[in-house]
Amino acid sequence: MTDRLYYEDAYCRSFEAEVTACRAAKGGGWEVALNRSAFYPTSGGQPFDTGVLRADGAEFRVTDVEADREGEVWHRTERELAPGTRVCGEIDWERRLDHMEQHAGEHMLAGAVWEKLGGTTIGLHLGQEDSSIDISMPEERMRLTEEEIRMLEDLVNRRIREDAPIRCWFPGEEELKTLPLRKPPTVQEHVRVVAMGDFEMVACGGTHPASTGRIGLIKILSALPSRGKVRVTFVCGGRACRLFQHYMRCADKAGNVLSAPTEKLASAAGELKRRLSETEKRLHQLETDRVLQEIRNAESAEDLKGVILAAVCLPETDNTPLSAAVSKWIGEGGRILLLSAGERLLFARSEDVDLEMGTLIRRVARGGGRPDWASGAGVPECVGVARKILMTEGKGKTWRKKK
Ligand SMILES: [Zn+2]
Repeated sequence: MTDRLYYEDAYCRSFEAEVTACRAAKGGGWEVALNRSAFYPTSGGQPFDTGVLRADGAEFRVTDVEADREGEVWHRTERELAPGTRVCGEIDWERRLDHMEQHAGEHMLAGAVWEKLGGTTIGLHLGQEDSSIDISMPEERMRLTEEEIRMLEDLVNRRIREDAPIRCWFPGEEELKTLPLRKPPTVQEHVRVVAMGDFEMVACGGTHPASTGRIGLIKILSALPSRGKVRVTFVCGGRACRLFQHYMRCADKAGNVLSAPTEKLASAAGELKRRLSETEKRLHQLETDRVLQEIRNAESAEDLKGVILAAVCLPETDNTPLSAAVSKWIGEGGRILLLSAGERLLFARSEDVDLEMGTLIRRVARGGGRPDWASGAGVPECVGVARKILMTEGKGKTWRKKK
């Protein structure tokens, strides 16, 4: 069984040890067991440490660490290390420190949720960017209010600033029974307890800073319903500082673009949105008027007896003003429109005209639609072909429907 040095000292970064076993790892590489190790193996929601093992001037990179049921800690390396070899291990401290900050912050948050809201933490995840805890709330509540989120964040940050000591130990069976743990331990033997000030006490085998002050800061990012629970996402320590710096840079950039100080960004963006919407409305009206004028310019009352026919070829035009102009024109009654806009075709007629527009469009191009309004895809010449069909086959026809 490997002697786990981080149990006694979470700040132990380098250590000397002896290789006790080495075996080929599944998927390539080797797994090395040591008689003692400061490397933390993945467990309890805290990811493994990385680092190096040095032996006889050579360096062996540790890319994964796991513990087996017998309590042996296995370090994954690329090359083999013979049993009996003396090694010097060194863990990647930045990574471990970050994990300790997130993990201890998670304890503080879970403790505050339990104490103030009666919520039980049933799952936790320490991710690359942020971390989260899943909380089972009384009466199956799946949301926290804005006030509750702020209260939790303020409370945990105040306790962090109090810099209360964090203590980890293995209590005896009798002592364990007397401890006010936040929830029952998941293991029966060798229960390790962590206590933070007088506001958090729970069984945990993880690594923790020496005092709450070394967590630095907590920032809750969201509290959202997730599979019947509330998932609270947060960042702590260095991550919280970096996130604040990132958001400040984003706010400064947005402020420069909008010529507004950070606290007035929302109102400046709102004003911009309002003006954009007004401009779009005006532009839409101008475009509708222009299309309508193009259609009127093409009106011909002589081609077909009793109706006004317009055959128009326009360049590519936005659909909204195009439809608005066409609706207005055919709404005047007794009208047939054959129109192309870029590679789109739109054939439409007034309600009082007796003509199947879907059938007509399918005789000249691909398309279809309602009896009074059909659209398709085709070259502008299709408009001329359709007009010719109407002129040839429509001689002497009564175009207007009987009332
Ligand atoms: Zn812990």
